[in-house]
Amino acid sequence: MNICMDLHTHTVSCGHGYSTLKENIEAAIGAGLLFLGLSEHGPSILGGPNPWFFGNYRCIPRQYGTLRLLCGTEANIMDYEGRLDLEERLLEKMDYVIASMHVACVTPGSRRENTMASIRAMQNPYVKILGHPDDSRYPLDYEELVRAAREAQVVLELNNASLNPQSARQGGRENIRTLLNTCAKYGAPVLLGSDSHICYTIGQFGPALEMIKEADFPEELILNDKPERIGQLVNIDI
Ligand SMILES: [Zn+2]
Ligand SMILES: [Zn+2]
Repeated sequence: MNICMDLHTHTVSCGHGYSTLKENIEAAIGAGLLFLGLSEHGPSILGGPNPWFFGNYRCIPRQYGTLRLLCGTEANIMDYEGRLDLEERLLEKMDYVIASMHVACVTPGSRRENTMASIRAMQNPYVKILGHPDDSRYPLDYEELVRAAREAQVVLELNNASLNPQSARQGGRENIRTLLNTCAKYGAPVLLGSDSHICYTIGQFGPALEMIKEADFPEELILNDKPERIGQLVNIDI
C-alpha cells in the first residue's frame, strides 16, 4: 500500500506537541506524502490555540512541491448532543474537520450516550472524520456508529497512536479490531491517522497496518493510498 496522506497531526501550537508546522511539513515530504493535515486541537484543550488561530489559516501557503497542506482542526465533542467547541463560522473556513472525544472536554457517559454524542457530531455538516473511536473509557455501539457514519458520509479513523501501549486511551487493540470488523461488514471506509504530536511519527502507521493485515481488512476500504478520494475528506475543492 502506497500511503499518501496523514490528516491527523498536531504542532507546538496545541500546548502539548513538540514540532513546528515547518518541521511537520518537512517530515511529510520526507515520508513521501501528498497530503498533510494540520488538525490542531480545538480551543477547549488546556493550552490549546484560541479561536483566532483557526481564523488565520488564510496566511498559510498550502502547496509545498508535491505536498498539499490541509488546515483543519480536531474539534472537541463537548456533550452528548455532539456539540463542538468551534463555531460554525470558523469551521466553514477550514479545509476539513475531525471530531473527537477527550476526557478534558466531555465526561465519559454510558455506551448509549457516547454513541449518540459521536453520531450527532458526525451529523455536523463540516465534520468529515471521527477521531479515535477506539477508547474503552468511551464505550461505543460499533454497529450503530458505523451505520451512522456511512449515512453521514463521515470516515472513521484508525488511530495509530491508540495502539501505542503507553496511550492514555484504553483497549485500543480490541476496539480497533471490532471497528475494523464492523466497517468491513458495512463497507464503510477508514482513514489511518498518526495523531502525531512530533514530526518523527508523521506518515508512520506500523501497528495500524499490522492490525489491518490481521483483520484481513479489505484494501478498497482504506483511504490513505487513494489520493483520488481526498474530496471525501475535505470541505474544499482540490
Ligand atoms: Zn493532543
Ligand atoms: Zn484526539
